[in-house]
Amino acid sequence: MSAQSGCGICAGIERIRTDGADNFIAELPTCYVVLGDAQFYRGYCVLLAKRHATEVFLMPSAEAHALFEELRLVAEAIAAVTRPWKLNYECLGNVEPHVHWHIFPRLETDELRHAPVWERPKSERMITLPDSDRTALIFALRKEIAARIPNARVATN
Ligand SMILES: [Zn+2]
Repeated sequence: MSAQSGCGICAGIERIRTDGADNFIAELPTCYVVLGDAQFYRGYCVLLAKRHATEVFLMPSAEAHALFEELRLVAEAIAAVTRPWKLNYECLGNVEPHVHWHIFPRLETDELRHAPVWERPKSERMITLPDSDRTALIFALRKEIAARIPNARVATN
């Protein structure tokens, strides 16, 4: 699963592998889970496929299915921690064409709950959590992921 030069996600994965990263949550068999940088939707995570593939259909079938199962279990873990009204899943790749999934917990109290997350201005979405809350959130997500995926690596290097 060699990195593609010029790919921001491959570069991010390389940083996780070599230096660790403060947004690292877990390493799973086919992906990394990181905490999203914009936490208006508290618990927003991103799954980064280990393999550089621009489309899901360009991945080996078994690997794509394994990735989807990891997505399913990580989503359940996020739901266990954040108790959302609804989760949103997005696999876009227009900016970084490397398969990755955004998972957003949505709340019923959100007046924009019927709209995609991107309709909220970036300036509103770019909320960082207080350090203690962020640490507690990452810890809780790791615990729920490890409970569902026994071979998950949740410790930092
Ligand atoms: Zn890549």
